[in-house]
Amino acid sequence: MSKMIEGKIVKVSGPLVIAEGMREANMFDVVRVGDGKLIGEIIEMHGDRASIQVYEDTAGIGRGDRVYSTGAPLSVELGPGIISNIYDGIQRPLETIFSLYGPNIKRGIDVPALDREKVWRFDALVKAGDQVSGGDIYGTVQEGDIILHKIMVPPKMSGTIVSIQSGDYNVTQPIGQLKTAGGEVVDITLMQKWPVRMARPYKEKIPPNTPMVTGQRTIDALFPIAKGGTACIPGPFGSGKTVTQHQLAKWSDVDLVVYVGCGERGNEMTDVLREFPELTDPRTGKSLMQRTVLIANTSDMPVAAREASIYTGITIAEYFRDMGYSVAVIADSTSRWAEALREMSGRLEEMPGEEGYPAYLTSRLAQFYERAGWVKCIGSDGREGAVSAIGAVSPQGGDISEPVTQATLRIVKVFWGLDSALAYRRHFPAINWLNSYSLYRERLAPWFAENVAADWNEKVAEMMTILQEESSLDEIVKLVGVDALSPADRLTLEIARSVREDFLQQDSFSEYDSYMEQKKMSATMDLILSFYHKAQSAIEKGADIEKIAELPVRERISRAKEAGSDSYQAVYAEVDNEIDRQLAALLAEEETV
Ligand code: ADP
Repeated sequence: MSKMIEGKIVKVSGPLVIAEGMREANMFDVVRVGDGKLIGEIIEMHGDRASIQVYEDTAGIGRGDRVYSTGAPLSVELGPGIISNIYDGIQRPLETIFSLYGPNIKRGIDVPALDREKVWRFDALVKAGDQVSGGDIYGTVQEGDIILHKIMVPPKMSGTIVSIQSGDYNVTQPIGQLKTAGGEVVDITLMQKWPVRMARPYKEKIPPNTPMVTGQRTIDALFPIAKGGTACIPGPFGSGKTVTQHQLAKWSDVDLVVYVGCGERGNEMTDVLREFPELTDPRTGKSLMQRTVLIANTSDMPVAAREASIYTGITIAEYFRDMGYSVAVIADSTSRWAEALREMSGRLEEMPGEEGYPAYLTSRLAQFYERAGWVKCIGSDGREGAVSAIGAVSPQGGDISEPVTQATLRIVKVFWGLDSALAYRRHFPAINWLNSYSLYRERLAPWFAENVAADWNEKVAEMMTILQEESSLDEIVKLVGVDALSPADRLTLEIARSVREDFLQQDSFSEYDSYMEQKKMSATMDLILSFYHKAQSAIEKGADIEKIAELPVRERISRAKEAGSDSYQAVYAEVDNEIDRQLAALLAEEETV
């Protein structure tokens, strides 16, 4: 342990405290401030002066008060007990604190992140004499019903197992002992610690080639995200950021979701807190919380506390990635997080960049998103794991030219641009299909062709083309009216409407539509495009576009997806036959006229 460093406060400015006598302290050390032992972190050092970001209300703290450095950086506790928990931005367990102290968090309280009393059943997988190194698995603990928690050798450790025993342990009791390369014998426990601002190591990053399947048609088909990928959802208030993120948390085919709420509107987070524990995981039938970790910033914590929360979140995600799991981190919203940075930067009197954000805004955002990825994990069994990072951005007034959105777009590979005009028309999800993009589409194309349908990518491309043509035809219609269009172009407009209404629109609150499996997505595209192609040839044979547009089968195309997953194939086949029948009847009618 390093020796205790004690300094004296010379200035307090909101969450920023400046203390002198801190020459020996390190950047990013955690400090305790004043008699109340408020938790803070050193974010700048100048000679013997440390600038400290304090994560609790600094009222009552003043010049001359003492500051103690703990000599350790801001770290999280990693071990059984994380899952299902609700933490604040510095990993204090909120539910435990509420039950001990009531809803108003007392300043300076010390409650460990992982329950010290709770006993876990540990099953050893290694034995005395085994050589192990960072990432190797000592054994497992079944945490809840869903996640098998792998107890790993901490990244920087290696040696020979002296003893290890299956049994019932709490997180601090030794489960065995390890003799390090240096000959030192150390206790092994179920818990390890890791500094949040440092990425956990991995062997190598592997370019991701598997989609994170979300069951959301616009996302999976048009703008897919890879497992291990990065995405952002910018959108003005009311455009559906929260609903989209909940859909992702609920439906994504990942093993674990870490949801970081950095919103300042208390209700944003309470929604999640209230809703998530009640949700059932559609894959397992168990509570969604059994595969969720929530990080919330409570309203009585100062803005600065948000800054730490995304690092806390992604560190927890990396830890489960290291076990070989696929994890999604959803941060809501990174705009609030950036505002915390801006506030601190202002108090530090740094030179402001665009709109007052610090010049390092982009590099800080990059540091977060760069921790996503599909990796070969440390440990000798060759396992792989993934962290996918999704950030909501809430630009003022929906203006995506503002600095946080722009900085984010330079980093992430998927942009789901929510559009208030679409939301206003109640086209949900309000993802604008003309300006959104996914740079993973090409990489993921082989996966879709192999696992869903050989022609998946061609169908997606055709739908995108139809939508683009619609947007240029719309311009013409505005100038000269729809009657000036050729029948073929008018058909394109009709089909574009069908793509929008029958495919892109998806009601999150509907039992049958909230999630769609990919085979069914593919069949839905087939049906829409089948009508398109058959109507095209009917038009060539002289059928009237007006009459085609009014065929009753179009309503059936639109409703076909209401069929359940066990019966939809028959329904879709029947509707496709009906397309043939009605078009043939139409042509026969034209001929007799
Ligand atoms: P934001 O978080 O961007 O302010 P919300 O996610 O709260 O917006 O969405 C606002 C409203 O839009 C929701 O209450 C809901 O009625 C509607 N909405 C958004 N997305 C969908 C969707 N996919 N399906 C149905 N309704 C939606």
